Amino acid sequence: MTLKLKTSDIKEIAGDQLATWLKDQGLEPYRAVQILKWVYLHQADTFEEMTDLGKELRKLLSHHFTINRLETAQVETSQDGSRKYLFRLEDGKYVESVLIPEKDHYTLCISSQVGCALECRFCLTAKGGFVRNLSKGEIIAQVRDIANHLDDTMRLTNIVLMGMGEPLANYQNVVEAVKTITDSDAGLGFSSRRITISTAGLVPRLADLGRELTVNLAISLNATDNKTRSMLMPINRKYPVETLMDACAQYPLLPRRRITFEYVLIKGINDSRQDAERLAGLLRPIRAKINLIPFNTYQGCEFERPQESVINDFKEILTQKNYTVIIRHSKGQDISAACGQLSGKYDA
Ligand code: SAH
Repeated sequence: MTLKLKTSDIKEIAGDQLATWLKDQGLEPYRAVQILKWVYLHQADTFEEMTDLGKELRKLLSHHFTINRLETAQVETSQDGSRKYLFRLEDGKYVESVLIPEKDHYTLCISSQVGCALECRFCLTAKGGFVRNLSKGEIIAQVRDIANHLDDTMRLTNIVLMGMGEPLANYQNVVEAVKTITDSDAGLGFSSRRITISTAGLVPRLADLGRELTVNLAISLNATDNKTRSMLMPINRKYPVETLMDACAQYPLLPRRRITFEYVLIKGINDSRQDAERLAGLLRPIRAKINLIPFNTYQGCEFERPQESVINDFKEILTQKNYTVIIRHSKGQDISAACGQLSGKYDA
């Protein structure tokens, strides 16, 4: 078999593909797991380090594959401890990831695309338009490389696909990357219970996702009526609120799990009592929890964050109706690392 790859980065290859390739070379296919353990568990940078492989095999691997790292162009640290990584990709494009310290662990927010095509009106990433999908290896590398940077005793346990891009618009690469990130044998071994994929609501892909992965699902709802939602998120014209809610109601959830509904609170747009009540009604048929995200501003944005009292009232209405509600005060605002503030550019 000849592997047709744009890049020779070993992270682009699935374990069974590597096993087949080895077999075709007349070598033992089980070596694939051994090799990938070096790459993911031991964070190897070269095939030379893989001391339990024969010299010949190491040479052969070096000849055919590389073990790529992302080039870190800039790291900024917020007053609250969160860190924003700007990575320069092989083709010179930039992408960002944000490492967020929680009480006793880290959460890492990773990107799935360079830019985004969805044109959500309130999101800074959208302003730069869509550039390209990240490859499977580039998605995995954000996790692998940042985990490798960490020398803290605090562990990286949670991963959210809430950075730049729409994960379900880069479906295959995202699914393949998540499979490697959660593979405890020949991957990074993260628990799929601690991985969350956030989507603006690409309805046809939701059913596929539910079949293929058991990660957590977050839906960026942001409005409860079609007029407002289509204004904020043009994707709503294709998959309106009712269609999205139907897909969510049918989403196969594991016992005791719920879908997270993200709701960016924007002053005068979607923050009224009626909005809160409509939201409560809309989510009734679904096992849901709600994350309220007060709008994060950026230079030149046309929207504002509601007053604190409005945010709290909105939460209270939902709590009264028995929903679990969290107000997500995004970290890293001083370094433009908060939700919707990622641009993939140098902040001079
Ligand atoms: N495309 C995916 C992944 C991006 S997640 C999605 O839409 O879910 C980014 C989250 O940040 C989304 O919930 C989005 O609604 C929210 N967001 C975008 N811009 C924001 C802003 N300026 N302030 C607060 N939240 C924002």
